[in-house]
Amino acid sequence: ERVYRVSAMPIGEGTGLFVLLFKDQSEARRIDRMRADFIANASHELRTPLASVAGFIETLRGPARDDPKARENFLQIMQNQTARMARLIDDLLSLSRLEIRPYVTPSDKVDLRLLLEGVGDSLAHLASESGVAIEFELPETPLEVAGDRDELVQVFENLVENACKYGSSGGRVVVSAEYAGPGGEKTVTVTDFGPGIAEEHIPRITERFYRVDVETSRAQKGTGLGLSIVKHILTRHGARLSIRSRVGEGSSFTVHFPPRP
Ligand code: ADP
Repeated sequence: ERVYRVSAMPIGEGTGLFVLLFKDQSEARRIDRMRADFIANASHELRTPLASVAGFIETLRGPARDDPKARENFLQIMQNQTARMARLIDDLLSLSRLEIRPYVTPSDKVDLRLLLEGVGDSLAHLASESGVAIEFELPETPLEVAGDRDELVQVFENLVENACKYGSSGGRVVVSAEYAGPGGEKTVTVTDFGPGIAEEHIPRITERFYRVDVETSRAQKGTGLGLSIVKHILTRHGARLSIRSRVGEGSSFTVHFPPRP
C-alpha cells in the first residue's frame, strides 16, 4: 500500500491551471510505524517487571509484612525484576548509541584469535553454569580484521552467550575462525548442538524484540535485543551474519568479514 502527499502549484498567473505534485510518503510512513512499534515494545518490556515490583511492594506492606520467609522470597523476585530492567536499558542504550554513531567503518587492527580467547574467558562462568564446554578451533597465526575491538567483543559475547543459553545443556559450543575462500574473506563461526531454530524464524531473529519463545528467553535473562545489536555492529563493519540451523541438531552463526581493501 502506497501513501502520497498531493500538492497543487499554479502555472503562471491567472491561467487557472495547476500542476499536481505527488510525493511518495510510503517509506517515511513505514519508518514512523517501525519507530512507534519499537517504543511500544520497549515500554511493554519495561512495564512488565515494573508492574511486578509494584505488586510485590504492596504485598510486602500488607499480607507479607510479618512473614520473614515470604518477605525474603518477594525481595529476591524484586531484585531479579530490577536486574531485568537494567539489562533492557543497557541494551536499549547500546542500540541507540550505535544508531547515532557516524557511519564510519571502524578501523583498529584486531586479532580475532586473541579477541575470541578473551570472550571465552569472560564467558567461562556462564558456560559452566549452563554445563556447556566451549571449544576453540583457531588458526596458528594471527587473524586480523579492521574493526572496533569493544564492539566486536560485544558481537561474539552475544553469539557465544546465545549458544550457551539456547544450546543443549551438558553439550558443547564450538568457536572456529578461518580464512575462507580465495578472496581473503575471514569468518568466525559459533556452533551449538542444541534444539536449533525452525526455518520460519531464522529470517526474523535479528529483529528487535523477536524471540522464538518469550518464556525461554526471559528465563535465560534475554532481552530480545542481542542479535539486533550484533547486526547493527556488523553492518558498521561492512561484515555480515549468516545463520544455519536444523531443528534437533543445532545452529551455527557465521560472521563474514570482507577482505581488507
Ligand atoms: P535474547 O535476548 O532473547 O537472547 P537475541 O536477539 O539474542 O535475544 O536472540 C533472539 C532469539 O533467537 C532468542 O530469544 C532465541 O529464541 C533465538 N536464538 C538465538 N540464538 C539461538 C541459538 N543459538 N539456538 C536457538 N535459538 C536461538
